Amino acid sequence: MTNIIHHHLSDDLLHRYCAGSLPRPFAVVVAAHLSLCDECRAAAEAEDHLGGALLDCSEAAPLAEGLRDRLLLALDDAPPPPAGPRPSGIFPAAVMEALDGNPPKWRMLGGGIRQQVLSDDAEGSLRLLYIPPGRAVPEHGHRGLEMTLVLQGSFSDCEGRFSRGDVECAHDEIDHQPVAGEGEPCICLAATDAPLRFRAMIPRLLQPIFRI
Ligand code: ZN
Ligand code: ZN
Repeated sequence: MTNIIHHHLSDDLLHRYCAGSLPRPFAVVVAAHLSLCDECRAAAEAEDHLGGALLDCSEAAPLAEGLRDRLLLALDDAPPPPAGPRPSGIFPAAVMEALDGNPPKWRMLGGGIRQQVLSDDAEGSLRLLYIPPGRAVPEHGHRGLEMTLVLQGSFSDCEGRFSRGDVECAHDEIDHQPVAGEGEPCICLAATDAPLRFRAMIPRLLQPIFRI
């Protein structure tokens, strides 16, 4: 069953993804959205073709003598590309790759909310979040960009309702308190490039432990 996606990627994010200039955590969220969204995938393919056409127009540099033959030979010998990760259940291939092919190992965050940190380094952090139906994430602001892609269930906040395939981009001017919809637990993929700003004391105290 395909569901209708209401919240898409911005042109700027798509452009940076196609140019290979997005930090990895955000690139994984974009790749996962593209696998769920025909509309953005078509836009990304158009952008890739445009990039290819621009390359075709640029002046070709002459190849060193013999290099062309060596390149063609090397291509003949090249082993087939390794089989990439496959989607599994609600998780697109890009998420399965970040999970190293394993099911998530959830850690409790409190209030029934769970997470698995997939990566956390200078490029930012990437995590899976599990929010029980009807449960709210503590209210917070952002010091940078936060991208959240819904993989199962839904959540709502001041920006609207987000369900499977929808992506929310929250910048430093947005303060929000996402609340999971009723029904299935809400499972999201979230990338951030700076720690969140929590209003309440308890989440602030727990921040360093949970690397949020
Ligand atoms: Zn889209
Ligand atoms: Zn947020």
